[in-house]
Amino acid sequence: MKKYSWIMVILLSIIPLIGIVGTSLYTYTYGIVWQEPVLMILGWLLSGMGITFGYHRLFAHKSFKAHPLIQFIAMLCGSAALQNNIIKWCSDHRLHHKKLDTKDDPYSIKEGFFHAHIGWIIEDKPQIIKGVNDLKNNSIVKFQYRYYWPIAISLSFILPLLIGFYYGRPLGGLLWGGFLRLTLVHHFTFFINSLCHYAGKRPFDSNTSARDSWWVAFLTFGEGFHNFHHKFQNDYRNGIRWYDFDPSKWMIKFLSFFKLTKDIRTVSDYKILNARFATIKNKLNYFLPKTPLKIKKTYQEKIDLLQNKANEAYKNWTKFEIDFKRIKSKGFRDKLHEESVYYKRKMLKVEYESIVNTFSLLLISLKSYI
Ligand SMILES: [Zn+2]
Ligand SMILES: [Zn+2]
Repeated sequence: MKKYSWIMVILLSIIPLIGIVGTSLYTYTYGIVWQEPVLMILGWLLSGMGITFGYHRLFAHKSFKAHPLIQFIAMLCGSAALQNNIIKWCSDHRLHHKKLDTKDDPYSIKEGFFHAHIGWIIEDKPQIIKGVNDLKNNSIVKFQYRYYWPIAISLSFILPLLIGFYYGRPLGGLLWGGFLRLTLVHHFTFFINSLCHYAGKRPFDSNTSARDSWWVAFLTFGEGFHNFHHKFQNDYRNGIRWYDFDPSKWMIKFLSFFKLTKDIRTVSDYKILNARFATIKNKLNYFLPKTPLKIKKTYQEKIDLLQNKANEAYKNWTKFEIDFKRIKSKGFRDKLHEESVYYKRKMLKVEYESIVNTFSLLLISLKSYI
């Protein structure tokens, strides 16, 4: 039987209760002014990005480096989401990646949707901090750790109250910019631990509960491509296609043009394609024993053939990448040389992609026999 912390239960019930019922009653009685939804939406975006851009990709995964000013702003925005300090948040999150889907995963989906969403937060259990020694040397993280509650309360409640005073409706500011905004930012970021392990496909790793879903990305500030994220956690992107909804990815890249972010980490395309190939193979191996005996042999031959081609393409590409790095560091002979090297790189990608796509079609056709 799980024990719950009644303080947390009350806190996480009161915030949405005041946020939804209180704001509705206030709006019904006193009407609405334009500043209030604007305050709510702006606050929601800033605090949500504070978690995904700041807490998650910058501090927990170190998928890029940021200027101290950006780190400080990210720390303030993340504090306004009222999801504990960076040290505790990153300790839990790193453990989630390390022990995914096991009993040591703090928000394991294996214990149910409710547990992964909010149950783990309201449980009464010892606070364990580990695996975050690197963060303990960061002065901004240390500052936040020391003054977390004054910062979080000031930004979450006092600031919207003061903004409300400024336009003549302090209670309106507090309800819209404080309680309602917090309700939304809480549950839409909690979805990352629940819905992202529940709805969607698993193109990069079929052995984990993490899933990719474009529509969940809209509900989670772009963190919906969670299967990719769990496979390649140090990549600054969650959605790897340029059009995948991922505001943190766009922000990290945008800030790099002004040198405010740097050393942005991405995983190589050949590793991504290799993961996709392995996932399709897993699925083929799962479905193959279920097919009629007479077609099994034909499919096995095709799988082996494509596996050999994939091995060859992977080998050629990895070998090329070593040469590519060497050539790039030495400098290209001339423009023509540069173009030919990049063209070869592009062709290696096209070749590997076509093998993966053929493999994917093979899976679709195999499924039609079941
Ligand atoms: Zn996860
Ligand atoms: Zn993560």
